[in-house]
This record gives sequence, C-alpha cells and structure tokens, in this order.
Amino acid sequence: MMSQPVAVGPVAQRMTCPHCRAEITTRVEGESNSKTHLFALLLCLLGCWPCAPCPYCMDSCLVKKHYCPACNNYLGQHEN
Ligand SMILES: [Zn+2]
Repeated sequence: MMSQPVAVGPVAQRMTCPHCRAEITTRVEGESNSKTHLFALLLCLLGCWPCAPCPYCMDSCLVKKHYCPACNNYLGQHEN
C-alpha cells in the first residue's frame, strides 16, 4: 500500500523515508503543471510568444516533487 504523501517545502529537506526508512535528503524535481501551461498560453495570446517557454524555467511556476534518492519513491510535492 502506498504511504500518504508527506508535507514538504520547496527545497530539499532531511527526513526519514517512509518507504525504505533511510535517513535521506530529498531529491527535488521541478515539474510543470496545468498552471504552467496556462501561463505559457497566456504569454502567447499576449504576443509575448518568445517568452512562452519562460514559465517552464521559472521555479515559481513549477511543482516541486520530492523523491527519495535511496529507493526513488515519490514522497510528496510542494505547490506555490
Ligand atoms: Zn526511500
């Protein structure tokens, strides 16, 4: 059974992995979500299409997903 996602912040943090019980520092990966796509679309509509890929590079527009570096299990995510 999958464990409940844990509450995490926007940056890597030390915790005990609920899956493998190891003391780990989470691996954070920025991932785009619907808000990111919407923002990119909006920039296109406003004629700022050269800036459209920007939301994908902006940390504030990405969901921070935390993974365990030991067992690679998903731990939780932080949305701005
Ligand atoms: Zn683990």
